Parts: sequence; C-alpha cells; structure tokens
Amino acid sequence: MLRGLLKLPQVRGGVHPVGHKDRSAALHILDLPLPERLYLPLRQHAGADAIPVVKVGDKVLKGQMVAVAPSEISAPVHASSSGRVVEIAEIMAPHPSGLKSTAIVIETDGEDRWIDTGVSGDPYDEEPLTLANRVANAGIVGMGGAIFPAAVKLKQGTRHEIKTVLVNGSECEPFLTCDDRLMREKAEEIVEGARLIRHILRAYKAVIAIEDNKPEAIAAMRAAAEPYGMVEVEAVPSMYPMGSAKQLIQEITGREVPAGARSTSVGVLVHNVGTVYAIQQALTYGRPLVSRIVTVAGGAINRPRNVNALVGTPVQHLIDACGGLNGDPAKLVLGGPMMGMPLPSTQVPTIKGATGVLALAKHEVPRSEASPCIRCASCVEACPMGLLPLEMAARSRADDFEGADDYGLRDCILCGSCAYVCPSHIPLVQYFQYAKGEQDAKRTAAKKMDYTVELSLAKQARIEAEKAAKAAEKAAKKAAKKKPVTATKPAETEAIKSPSEEESV
Ligand code: SF4
Ligand code: SF4
Repeated sequence: MLRGLLKLPQVRGGVHPVGHKDRSAALHILDLPLPERLYLPLRQHAGADAIPVVKVGDKVLKGQMVAVAPSEISAPVHASSSGRVVEIAEIMAPHPSGLKSTAIVIETDGEDRWIDTGVSGDPYDEEPLTLANRVANAGIVGMGGAIFPAAVKLKQGTRHEIKTVLVNGSECEPFLTCDDRLMREKAEEIVEGARLIRHILRAYKAVIAIEDNKPEAIAAMRAAAEPYGMVEVEAVPSMYPMGSAKQLIQEITGREVPAGARSTSVGVLVHNVGTVYAIQQALTYGRPLVSRIVTVAGGAINRPRNVNALVGTPVQHLIDACGGLNGDPAKLVLGGPMMGMPLPSTQVPTIKGATGVLALAKHEVPRSEASPCIRCASCVEACPMGLLPLEMAARSRADDFEGADDYGLRDCILCGSCAYVCPSHIPLVQYFQYAKGEQDAKRTAAKKMDYTVELSLAKQARIEAEKAAKAAEKAAKKAAKKKPVTATKPAETEAIKSPSEEESV
C-alpha cells in the first residue's frame, strides 16, 4: 500500500529507451487475409521438436494437431487453417543463423474451417491437472518470447504453494505494442484467463501488471477485473527491463527471487498476457494456439500496426498487409530491438513466440564499431541484476568463463541494458551470449559424464548383487543337502559331527 502511494520503483538499474510505440498502438488489430501457404516449424518452443502425425496429401482442419510433443518439455503443433499438407520439408528457420529447420507446409483451401473442438462443461469443475494437460495439448508456449511450454509452468506451480499469479502486461521493449492492443481489445478474456490460472494453481490472487505508459490498457483491464475480488490491476513504472520476470516480481511483491532460483520459490508464477489469453481460449473454447498478435513496426514499414497472424504465415505477408517497405531496412528483427533476434529473410514463417517483426531504418540501429572501454561504469549503473558487465565482458572475451561466472554471468538475463548505455558501443551482450553458450555446453557435457558414471556404478552394483545372490543360493543348496532329513537323538548327533564342525563350535 505504502509502495503504491510513494510509487518508488523497487528494481535497480534499467534504462529508458525511446518508445517508438505511438503509431502501431493507435490502430486496431488487423486480421490478415489467409496466406496461400502456411509453414509450421516443428520447433517453435523450448525443448524437443514436435513429431509429425500427418503425411503429404492429408487434408487438415484448422486446429487439428499435425505434430505431437515427444516429451513434457515440448509442445504439439496444430494446423493454423484448413487445407492440404503439400510438403514436410526443410525451410529457412526464423533464426539469425538462417539454418534450416523441418516444417509442415499446408496449402490453405480458403475455408478456414475449424475442427470440432468438442468442449463442453465448466472448466472450474475440472481438476487442475486435467486443465494443465489441456493447456499442454493446445500447444501453448510463453508468448512474450520465452517460448517455454506453458503447461510445464502450470504443473510446476501445482507442486508449490503459489500465492500470486502475475500476469505480465508490462511490454517494456521499444516498438512492441501487441500486448497493449490485446489488453485494450480482449480485456475480459485476459481477466478470465487469469482467473482460470488462479483456479489451477489454487493461488490467492492474480495481479495484472502494466507499465504506466499504457493508460488505455490499464483502464480496460481495470474495468474487466472490477467484478472479481481476487484479480487486481497494478500500474508499474515504465522502464526497461520491467518485463523481465524477476524485475516484475520485485516491483509487485517487493521480494527478490534468489540467484539461480525460480519465481515459484517466492510463491509467484508469471505468465505473459498473450499466454493468458491463449490459455483462456483453450480452456473455454477448446481452441489450440494457431494465431497470435504481432507488432509490425520500424522506420522502414509504411503503416506500422498490430496484426492477428496465423502461426506459419510468412513474415513478408505481414509486411505487405502493413503497406510494405519504404526502402531497404537497415536491420530486420524478430521480437523487440533489445532482446529480439536478427531475421535472415522475410520469407521465414511467423512462430508462436514472435512478438514483433521490425524493419528498422538506419537511424534506428545502434552504431556497430566498438572502441576501448573507458571504465565509465555506465553499464554497472544500468544493470538491473546488480552485476559488473565490464568485468564479465573482459573475462568472456579472454575465454575465462569461470571468471565471468564468478562475476555473476549466470544471473545475467541478457537484457542488453548495459550495451544500450555503453558509450564505447562494446557488444557486451554478444560476449555474454557466447560465454553462456560455452558454459551451458560444458555443464551439459559434465551432466552427461555424471550420468554415464552413475549408470556404470549402477551396473557394477547390479552385477555384484547378482553374484552375491547366486553365491547365497549355492550355499543354501549345499546346506540343505547336509541337513538331516529326520530329527536325531542328541547322542546320534554327537556321533555324526565332523572334526571340522567340532573345531568351529
Ligand atoms: S559502459 Fe562501456 S565503456 Fe563504460 S565501463 Fe561499461 S563497458 Fe566500459
Ligand atoms: S545484459 Fe546482463 S549484464 Fe547487461 S545489463 Fe542485462 S543483466 Fe546486466
């Protein structure tokens, strides 16, 4: 309450980049015309690739599962419109490397016909685990860009005491306004989604956190939440990276998630507003995740706005719907300019985690030539995790990854605030990405080694146990052979005792 009155930010560091949000935020979400072809990558989520369950030539309906999840840390893929499977092939993936990835290609039939979703009854009558499984089957992943399967988080939550469901509507990245528009246009659905998640987790309350630079979204969400006592809407200060889960938790609850721990350790579970909307659609109407709101913006886009794009729609289709390009973009980005990734081409498909497609003009791209560090400490001031980016970078550059770890590399959330303020334009985040990649690879190799040693020890123990069991069996048989068949009188027993047995008494 006191914090609400004083409005002092709880989080440290952060930066205030220019928003560039006005143009796309001002327009209603546009439903895109159907593309001729949809390209559905089998990897659009954290975890294992989905496995196709259709073949070339099959007819599919919108919402039909076309690839299943092989493990819990994965997500199925659904046809995002009706049509025919024409190819299962390697396509250019939405990844900076431009590497290929397998996708199911559907030629749309123009009917956009839904599968029978078969949902009946009240989700509030269902068990939490049943609902979490339905979220898993709907292929929902973190739509703020994290792409972690949403059901895994829900199931983790059912194993911990969750006091607060935190709905992340902060949307702190410049240019992006997809969550802002979604909150303005689908406020009731998002509130219902928050209530359903609260029901699954048996949480005390749901808090929808929105940066204070979105007054229309705050008003819409407050009006929608008003009838429900346990759903609150809180305005949080506009700063980057307020949308990072740890920062938002600290801002809302005043509690800091310990290094290396999950948000559930402080009784909080965070979901992005887009994810919450998708969960509501799945649990209320049985609709899997087949579309999402994407911000198409940047100085090279003629008419920046938010579009409702079917998953698998080529990026070029989104750009065309926004009036096309007004020149060659200096940079194409999937996601926001701070944490998004460079796009190799506009022919790649829209994926579940795509918050934005940015075609940035030259003046919107930071200078790339780096000069030596002047030890100004601006990066230290900007770091929301309280780290020393200049020290971590020096060690990462020298391949001293343990040294970088000692300076807190593991806690770095790769937000880019340090690089944003660096007057020497040092690509700090690139160093951290590199060092984290190397450390992750080392840890994975060490885990594999531990596992192999464990397996070998277990095998050895099993062989020893089998040997011991056989020896015991043999001894038992031998003993049984020596045992007299009938009871003998003490005098007779004395008579048959062997000298050795005598000695052992
Ligand atoms: S902001 Fe850049 S120049 Fe300044 S200390 Fe950090 S790395 Fe060095
Ligand atoms: S990228 Fe890492 S080191 Fe740089 S400001 Fe963000 S958390 Fe700190």
